[in-house]
Amino acid sequence: MKVGILAVQGAFAEHEQMLNKLGIDFIELRQKSDTLKAYDALILPGGESTVQGKLIKDLDMFDNLKAQISNGMPVMGTCAGLILLADKISNDDRTHLQTMPITVKRNSYGRQLGSFHVEHEYGSLGKIPMTFIRAPHIEACAKDVEILAKIDERIVAARFKNQLALSFHPELDNDTRIFEDFIKLI
Ligand code: GLN
Repeated sequence: MKVGILAVQGAFAEHEQMLNKLGIDFIELRQKSDTLKAYDALILPGGESTVQGKLIKDLDMFDNLKAQISNGMPVMGTCAGLILLADKISNDDRTHLQTMPITVKRNSYGRQLGSFHVEHEYGSLGKIPMTFIRAPHIEACAKDVEILAKIDERIVAARFKNQLALSFHPELDNDTRIFEDFIKLI
């Protein structure tokens, strides 16, 4: 089993550390030729979604990534990665892969609460540590999207078939359960 981690910008190294901890093999996806290699799942890390979205187009990785996700490859998008997956972005005209029927709002916690940490119920996993950094949240989603975590009426984790979208950064905490759960999708 091998995970392809989008590594054009942002917090991909932290995902690599987490996968190392779990003994899961991965490759970095930095250019189009990497997206033609063999891997079984994708991670889209946090960072700056506008930069990542532009780079995957400029580097001609967009079509392959979109096709892999549309064809059912398990994908976990964290923070900016969630924004890349979203069908609609309520406060930005630029959309990206648009594989997940969700509407997201970027930077939805304002400046005061730019970054924060909570422990909150997540799906069937119980309380999970969640670190938010200039995070988006899911404002609306299609009926068949499963909501995994909601904090103060804001959806911060959801799954649609093979796609897992998280507002927060599970790679920044020591809890490995979300990754283990994701790996089960493979
Ligand atoms: N604010 C970033 C964006 O809109 C996301 C922040 C993050 O990934 N930590 O793209």
